[in-house]
Amino acid sequence: MNPRRELFLEEMGLTPLWRRRNREAPDAAPEVQMPAPPREASRDDAAPQPPRYTAPAADERAAAIARMDWTALKTAVAACTACGLRRTCKQTVFGVGDEQADWLLAGEAPGAEEDARGEPFVGQAGKLLDAMLAGIGLKRGEDVYIANVLKCRPPGNRNPEAAEVAQCAPFLARQVELIRPRLILAMGRFACQTLLDTDASIASLRGRVHRYRGVPLIVTYHPAYLLRSLPDKAKAWEDLCFARRTMADLRQQAESRAPAP
Ligand code: URA
Repeated sequence: MNPRRELFLEEMGLTPLWRRRNREAPDAAPEVQMPAPPREASRDDAAPQPPRYTAPAADERAAAIARMDWTALKTAVAACTACGLRRTCKQTVFGVGDEQADWLLAGEAPGAEEDARGEPFVGQAGKLLDAMLAGIGLKRGEDVYIANVLKCRPPGNRNPEAAEVAQCAPFLARQVELIRPRLILAMGRFACQTLLDTDASIASLRGRVHRYRGVPLIVTYHPAYLLRSLPDKAKAWEDLCFARRTMADLRQQAESRAPAP
């Protein structure tokens, strides 16, 4: 076996288990459920409110972000105070890697180590992610870009709130537009649901190619979750193999469309 793949499988706790399970559909396993975001009172229920000052429309802000180049985008993220998270985190975590990568990996939000170092996925989950990447012949920074939906760490690693996501999502959208990856791998329920604008579970979204702003997207479990869940490591390995095959297909399709020299 390829030593890198062996290392990955060992990290994933799949040796020798994965051989026996090869091509078998693993049993359904419960997945991590994130609490639904708090419901806002409906307009009909609310008492009449006095007119309020409204900040520049979210659409205008998103449109301004959508015009930024890399330098402007990095500056805007570093200076952002659009939600309260910047008050409690140490620094923003923009993203890292090859800015022309074919692969874009999207996670949820920085944790404590990421907040301290300013780079996504550098803690325990990041080590597993690196091993997962090695398993399909990839390396952080080489044809791979890694970013989170949220650029600031939620205090105590709590779940992101809908308003925080709304403020931060245009940054990832612009990163995707600037990178133009061939494929996005969304990791974890939160990133998958945000990017696909759905409440569906990861289990129901796996194994298919979705689209985020026209870019093919495949979902898988979050590495931090995989550290705690052996059954889903096998599923994550299936997702990675599916992603690798999909990437090969996408490259082949692009080649066949390219004009002959
Ligand atoms: N979890 C994430 O979703 N992102 C990180 O950068 C680290 C942990």
